[in-house]
Formats: sequence, C-alpha cells, structure tokens
Amino acid sequence: MDIKDSIRTIPDFPKPGIQFRDVTTLFSNPQAFRIAIDLLLHPYAGQPIDKVVALEARGFILGGAIAHQLSVGFVPIRKAGKLPGKTLSEEYSLEYGEAVMEMHDIAVSPGEQVLVVDDLIATGGTCEAGVKLLRRAGAEIIGCAFIIDLPALGGRKLVESLGLNVHTLCEFEGD
Ligand code: AMP
Repeated sequence: MDIKDSIRTIPDFPKPGIQFRDVTTLFSNPQAFRIAIDLLLHPYAGQPIDKVVALEARGFILGGAIAHQLSVGFVPIRKAGKLPGKTLSEEYSLEYGEAVMEMHDIAVSPGEQVLVVDDLIATGGTCEAGVKLLRRAGAEIIGCAFIIDLPALGGRKLVESLGLNVHTLCEFEGD
C-alpha cells in the first residue's frame, strides 16, 4: 500500500491558502499506521536508540508508537507553558511572529542517542528548535524522521544543514 493515499488534504485550513495534510486518516487506518511506523524506523534498524523525542502534537502519536516498538523511553517537546517541570526553551520563527518550544531539563542525559519524529516537515523551524534543545542537553541526534516532506518550504535542507540525517516517507507539492 502507498501510505500517501491514506493522508487527507483539507484546503484552506487553518487559514486560506494552506493545504492542510491531515494524518488523522492515516492514524485511523490500521495498515497505514503500522506501515508508517515500520517505514519511519527502517533506516535506523540496528542502530542503538536510547530515546524517541517527538514534537507537539501529532508527533506524540507517532513517537509513542515508535518508542513502544523499540522498548525505549519517550520525550515530548512541547509548546511553551505546557510542561510542568523545569524546562529548557528555544524561540523560533513562524510565518507570522515567534513561538517557543520547551523540553524538561532532565528529559535526556548527555550522550544519549535520540531519534526525533513528527508528522510533517515544512519550514523546519519546529524541528530546528527541537534540535537546539536536544543539543543543549547533550543528546546525540541519530536522525529526524517525518511522514511528510513539503520540499517547497525547505525544511529538509535546513535540518540537513545542521549536520543531521532526515528521513521522510512521502512528499506533497506546494505549501
Ligand atoms: P515547520 O516548523 O514549518 O516545519 O512546521 C512543522 C509543524 O507544523 C509540524 O508539527 C506540522 O504538523 C505542522 N504543519 C506545517 N504545515 C502543515 C501542513 N501544510 N499540514 C499539516 N501540518 C502542517
């Protein structure tokens, strides 16, 4: 099966001009969900992974399933103000304005090997903020895996320019 066929596009959401790539239809399809988890992990088979780190919010659904499959721990990177303990935070740019991503300061230990996951990479700003948090905590990032790449927005190139492996399962034209 082609998992791209299980992803629904909602035009003009959350605002006019955005083609929202809706992975809830992939998550609700049992074959597509399982295949997506397997394919996301495929390049990293045999590599030691200590923790799976996921970006809010759809990344959590993937990250939880991947961490369970690997029998390793799960770490959430969240939008500002959601995590209850002491956090590290990183500001990043959105199309309009700024946002902040946070991670608990004790979530990863120096030298731990982590895999970063999210549903989609667009500009790469969210992932870059996560990478900065993880590097500040001393983690070693073995790769960043996404179901969807929007190549027109350049996120893959940005994250690769940080010296990281980027793995994606499918691409959609435009933004
Ligand atoms: P970016 O930081 O620009 O790479 O944006 C990535 C984040 O925004 C991911 O967490 C995605 O879930 C979400 N996102 C950005 N663009 C879209 C889109 N066209 N459809 C669905 N989600 C998107």
